[in-house]
Amino acid sequence: MTSRVLVLNAGSSSLKYSLLDGVSGAAEASGSVERIGEERGTLVHSVGGHHHTEERRVADFEDALRSALRAFERHGPSIDESTLAAVGHRVVHGGDLFAEPVRVDDRLLDTIDDLIPLAPLHNPANVEGLRVAMRLFPGVPQVAVFDTAFHQTMPEHAYTYAVPLTWRTEHRIRRYGFHGTSYAYVSRHAAELLGRAVEDTNLVVLHLGNGASAAAIRGGRSIDTSMGLTPLEGLVMGTRSGDLDPAVHAHLHRELGWSIDEIDRALNRESGLRGLSGANDFREVTRRRAAGDTDASLAFDVYAYRVRKYVGAYYAVLGELHAVVFTGGIGQHSAELRAAALGGLSMLGIDLDPDRNDASGAQARVVSPDGAQVAVLVVPTNEEWEIARQALGVVDG
Ligand code: AMP
Repeated sequence: MTSRVLVLNAGSSSLKYSLLDGVSGAAEASGSVERIGEERGTLVHSVGGHHHTEERRVADFEDALRSALRAFERHGPSIDESTLAAVGHRVVHGGDLFAEPVRVDDRLLDTIDDLIPLAPLHNPANVEGLRVAMRLFPGVPQVAVFDTAFHQTMPEHAYTYAVPLTWRTEHRIRRYGFHGTSYAYVSRHAAELLGRAVEDTNLVVLHLGNGASAAAIRGGRSIDTSMGLTPLEGLVMGTRSGDLDPAVHAHLHRELGWSIDEIDRALNRESGLRGLSGANDFREVTRRRAAGDTDASLAFDVYAYRVRKYVGAYYAVLGELHAVVFTGGIGQHSAELRAAALGGLSMLGIDLDPDRNDASGAQARVVSPDGAQVAVLVVPTNEEWEIARQALGVVDG
């Protein structure tokens, strides 16, 4: 039986896809369609080290997926329905309804639709991606893999906000957490690198990419995470503020007369590294910092300090800690950030080996000294493979 999976990630105006083997993780091709619905869209199809680019208007998600399928026909490999075990879909918000990936039918689409108020920016596109794929691949099982599912193991005291009962019951306001597929992948691979059973491993995992979050993981199960009802809470991100006093909303509204939507947009799109330094890309922030830019230097310090605070908090939450694990573009590649976030924590048993930390590499690796009480690891994440693996798990029962 085939273990080939097409993984789809439908965003607000983009569709990312990847064709891979769900067992070995071997990728055959990948691509993206950007600026869907705009005057001029771009499709990039990558196969065998070649990138094929096409520019034209892409009307909607159906047009985007059809364009991707044409790119497969033109540049390979062929993806006949009969050669696919499943289509795996990244779905951002599963609320408290989904703790596992699920096979999607029309009834389930309605349930995911019902969750749109919890993720108005993400879930509509995810649902549309599912609908289109169900139309174009009617004979292939469609599996939804939720970003929130991994965190459904959090205890009630960790996911509950101190707000009135009706907010929590009628409006489902609580911490959900995101980046779940990344945490599932990284915690398994971190345990492997440590030579421990995942069930017997306690980790603080730091997923530091454009979006960023931290999680406390005990025995392969999430017990706390920094993102909340939405991906805005927690660490500093490329354009999102992360933690801030909730009264800032009221203050801005009163002082500037801003609407809730304007404030929401500013906190999601104009804050974080961008708000602090003008640049949302961490590489650019570190370049400017090295050139003596004081705004970039403050952005770096605020970012590293926030990461450090969460490491301390989650160490206390776990009680016993086997490793701190870095992943995501920044976590994987910025030795500077790792050093700034974890420096001076020897009394907690956390140390970095400077040479190991500075060495770059694409592989999972240990960057703490041999025999350290708490290991520090870099584990490149692979969310596509995790989605494919979970989709196969559902199909194979
Ligand atoms: P991701 O969302 O996981 O792709 O991560 C994107 C972030 O990683 C961006 O802020 C990039 O600037 C950052 N990043 C990628 N490569 C590096 C690098 N070599 N050093 C520092 N940051 C990096």
